[in-house]
Amino acid sequence: MHVSNEGTEAGNRRQVKITDIGHSTMLIELAGLKILTDPWFTDPILGIVTHPKSMGMRIEDVPDVDSILVSHGHFDHCDLKALSKLNRSAVVIVPESKTARRIRKLGYTDVAVLAPWESRRVSNVRVTALPASHPVPECAYVISSEDAAVYFGGDTRYLKDLQQIGDKFDITVALLPINGLSLPFLGKVVMDPADAAEAALQLKARVAIPIHYNISLAVPFLKRFFDRNAAGTPAAFSAELKRRNRYIKAVTLNPGESWESD
Ligand SMILES: [Zn+2]
Repeated sequence: MHVSNEGTEAGNRRQVKITDIGHSTMLIELAGLKILTDPWFTDPILGIVTHPKSMGMRIEDVPDVDSILVSHGHFDHCDLKALSKLNRSAVVIVPESKTARRIRKLGYTDVAVLAPWESRRVSNVRVTALPASHPVPECAYVISSEDAAVYFGGDTRYLKDLQQIGDKFDITVALLPINGLSLPFLGKVVMDPADAAEAALQLKARVAIPIHYNISLAVPFLKRFFDRNAAGTPAAFSAELKRRNRYIKAVTLNPGESWESD
């Protein structure tokens, strides 16, 4: 395991490299390809929601990517302003047609709508959409090459299908949401640290990286609400994982840091 912030130069010799840009926005480098997940670069959203610290990469510095995976249409996962600045040659993969239409309007010509368990080849990797659970239609994804597989969980709740996913894929690294956001009437809509630790186990991942935690809110009552109802931290996730299992390694990345497989 190697954590560094020395940039994102690609290399076929590396199996997989994950760079944390912020929230659920991750740059995955696998089999010589670059794949961006859930782009969110624009601050603030609606004047109130922002990244808590500076981002790991400015939108201008994002390299041309081969594919962009969008887990769902929420603004902190599908930032149309950011998408309007990325290379239109990317294959964009989304879970439903409304989001696909909005992205096609920006000039992307290859936008694929995948239902759970459908997959799409992008050069020498395969992207498989997977069941996820959230108040709106959402897919998680596995990106797999010949020698590695990355699970990307967007901001899903815990769900039973994780065991089946773990049986079907040999997951090298799982990117798991942890803030545990709980909303009135809807209850928990995102995994909390204990859920994500259980998910890492079910997925049989070798490494687990927490994502989707610690956003900033400009409005005091919302900040108080999030402090109470979306309190998951990487430290709590690491502790939950350690309590269950000594073999899966939790790796916390700050924005701009990367993890590479051996
Ligand atoms: Zn969401």
